[in-house]
Amino acid sequence: MSLSRDAILALDRAHVWHPYTTDDGSERSSEPIVVARAEGSWLVDVDGSRYLDGNASWWTQTLGHGHPRLLRALEDQARALAHVAFAGTTHEAGAALARDLVAVAPPGLDRVFFTDNGSTAIEVAIKIAVQLFENEGRPKKKRFLALDGAFHGETIGATSLGGVDVFKKPFAGVLFDCVHAPFPEEGAYAAAFDALVDLVRREHETIAAVFVEPLVQGASGMRTYPPDYLRAIRDVTRAHDVLLVADEVFTGYGRTGRMWACEHAGITPDLLCTGKAFAAMLPMAATLVTERVASAFRGAKERTLWYGHTFCGNPLGAAVAREVLAVYRDEDVVGQAARKAPRIAAAFARLASLPGVARVRSLGMMGALDLEGGVHLDMGYLGDLGWKVYAEAKARGAYLRPLGDTVYVCPPLVMDDQELDLLLRIVDESVRAAVTSWR
Ligand SMILES: *Cc1c(COP(=O)(O)O)cnc(C)c1O
Repeated sequence: MSLSRDAILALDRAHVWHPYTTDDGSERSSEPIVVARAEGSWLVDVDGSRYLDGNASWWTQTLGHGHPRLLRALEDQARALAHVAFAGTTHEAGAALARDLVAVAPPGLDRVFFTDNGSTAIEVAIKIAVQLFENEGRPKKKRFLALDGAFHGETIGATSLGGVDVFKKPFAGVLFDCVHAPFPEEGAYAAAFDALVDLVRREHETIAAVFVEPLVQGASGMRTYPPDYLRAIRDVTRAHDVLLVADEVFTGYGRTGRMWACEHAGITPDLLCTGKAFAAMLPMAATLVTERVASAFRGAKERTLWYGHTFCGNPLGAAVAREVLAVYRDEDVVGQAARKAPRIAAAFARLASLPGVARVRSLGMMGALDLEGGVHLDMGYLGDLGWKVYAEAKARGAYLRPLGDTVYVCPPLVMDDQELDLLLRIVDESVRAAVTSWR
């Protein structure tokens, strides 16, 4: 590699449109980190500066960057078979991955549909839900229910399920109808649950599925709710023959201290979507379904699920995803996460009483705080207090991309204790410095 930092930045400014930005990046408060390499928990920029990856690169690198076993699996698979259409063919990587995934999934989820990112894992769940009832002769069941504050991805279907207005507003009129139930805010669980039950009871004849992010809404600001609420959603959906889709794209793979967030509630959803950490470094995702779901697509040609992506079942992604599961087993990654979690909880609890911090929370290897002045959801997203913390953290050697005015960490689950303590110290210092500067 030969381009200088400035040359890369100039090309970037001239041609690249980054996610969640204006076209010209005019809202950017600081220059992007020009990453040259990444190893373990660290991003290394072109000048050799090192940054702890506080969000595990959008929650994907639970095993850290460049895990040698994943690289070897990728290399071996690339030499043998990098891609083939997953139609009229199959391959060891895909078949064995499906078996290994089913083995660790909540009991009863035993068929796997592969897609190429989290949004499409949701999109196929939407289509499966609609067509299931179509195939069963109940075509009125075509609507969906989701929670306020939900984030399920970026395609039109996934955006329609979303409950963050700022993401939806420009697309009003194009998105499909989705009923939203109140988010179970602390102190208001009972009321939120009653509202949800009421909606399902009243509208189940037209509702195909309820979509939830189990226990933590990630993108809307790491908002948590208790397992009881999830269990209750399971009960009411089952009672009214409404499918429950668990979006574990963020929460899966040990982030919450268990392999799946659903495990905290001891439930099996009808469909479960996984992505992000699932294939670590490659765009690959999966939607698991129960026999009750799969059986609706059997028996006659008209029952075919008309859905597929060019790269679904990609052998490279499948080989890496399979090795991810093997490393999870061999290194007890979920156990490691559960053991380290209390350090995150303690660090965020220490910030709770700081003037300028509105509230803190943590679950497993996730810790978050809302900066005061940021109003949740809409305003919070457009707020720039979080970016002040980002700049402070960057100067101290950590990458802490905020969610508006919510500052959080979701580090690699295998981050060692010294690195984790360093990251948490940087969070502490950066929040204190940022709060002092604006108060
Ligand atoms: C990231 C995310 C998605 C979308 O996944 P992409 O791979 O970005 O399309 C869906 N649901 C949840 C909960 C997510 O965190």
